[in-house]
Amino acid sequence: MAKIVDKYIDYVKTKYAHEPEFIQTVDEVLNSIEPVMQAHPEYEKSGLLWRLIEPERTISFRVPWVDDNGEVHVNTGYRVEFNSALGPYKGGLRFAPNVYSGILKFLGFEQIFKNSLTGLPIGGGKGGADFDPNGKSDAEIMRFCQAFINELYRYLGPNVDVPAGDLGVGGREIGFMMGQYKKLTRQYDGTWTGKGTENGGLAGRTEATGYGIVFYAREMLKHFGEELKGKTVVISGFGNVAWGTAQKLDEMGAKVIAFSGPDGYILDEDGVTGEKVDYFLELRSSGKNICSPYAEKFPNAKFVAGKKPWEVKADLYIPCAMQNDIHLEDAKNMVANGCKYLCEGANMPTTEDAIAYLQEHDVVIGPSKAANAGGVACSCLEMSQNAEHILFSKEDVYVQLEGIMVNIFKLCADACEKYNLGFDLIAGANIAGFERVAKAMMLQGIV
Ligand code: GLU
Repeated sequence: MAKIVDKYIDYVKTKYAHEPEFIQTVDEVLNSIEPVMQAHPEYEKSGLLWRLIEPERTISFRVPWVDDNGEVHVNTGYRVEFNSALGPYKGGLRFAPNVYSGILKFLGFEQIFKNSLTGLPIGGGKGGADFDPNGKSDAEIMRFCQAFINELYRYLGPNVDVPAGDLGVGGREIGFMMGQYKKLTRQYDGTWTGKGTENGGLAGRTEATGYGIVFYAREMLKHFGEELKGKTVVISGFGNVAWGTAQKLDEMGAKVIAFSGPDGYILDEDGVTGEKVDYFLELRSSGKNICSPYAEKFPNAKFVAGKKPWEVKADLYIPCAMQNDIHLEDAKNMVANGCKYLCEGANMPTTEDAIAYLQEHDVVIGPSKAANAGGVACSCLEMSQNAEHILFSKEDVYVQLEGIMVNIFKLCADACEKYNLGFDLIAGANIAGFERVAKAMMLQGIV
């Protein structure tokens, strides 16, 4: 039987055929919300989905910068201001060579529902540039960030659009961009999140995403009467998210037995614990290969060059690297190894066919838009800290973060129950995220 959402999905597939990542996310989210659309004919009448799938605004601009040899380069910068029904556009900036409208629209669309799930007043946006920060000097990074802001600053503001970091954009880049924004606008305001604590940043923001993922995973397991303590875990990635995840897992008594870096993966049956987690952070900050030096320092660990860690047997998998990191073959390995849980740390790390296979084999999947929402939730705490001209302590932040993550899990699980979805947390998260945005959009009229 034809579904209400089909025509919207077809429209996106035709009109944005050149943006496969955006098509993938629209397809997933809209298919999930079919029962909500059926229950609310007024949404269809108000053209709610036509309005939802089109960004409110996309800004794209030239970023000219000069390298250390005096050579001029030009990149393309973007900001997708997707949806402001719940609050100012909020979402990170990504600097990576593969950045283009399709990736940013996919991330911006996801961000709408992720931000909605936090229960906080933030809309959805995303931005970035097709700039590769790898191998650039500090001075080149600074010049690029300044050039990027020379154009973007006019669209930003604490009540309008508040960027943060994402892949390729960390504390250093946020500092440079904030500095240039301040120079141009004369405003020292809450326009940036993920700032250093000396610049008004939030204590605990760096580890917040990883900690939040672990709280969400804990709730998932609790639902089935299990606990994290004693579980073996495999993670991928080597950024802030992976580090925070490893740290919290260790604290909760789970055992991280494998992690990956650009050079391959590490299998450490003794567990990545205590000083090893700190060493992992040290390597991460050095910007060099992660795995081979780790195996040199801790000889019990095995370095597997050029491969992904999904072939390692574990109770729980937490991908914290990039989108589409887990493919069908990896899913098959996981199932063959008896996996029951996957909790997505990165944005959309599992391909569609891998998700289908895992679900067919009863693997419970915690979707990224719910599981990694702790990062943006803490960004919102940072906005509120700046607006109030106060400072939250790390302890305050951790307590609020845990409460937010427990609530997000509950929203997803409740939606599964309300719409008879079994325990499909992907659909549950899409529905719970959509319901709040839809209600706000309805109240605001056709705008
Ligand atoms: N880039 C992060 C995300 O994907 C954080 C966004 C933010 O803090 O605004 O949610």
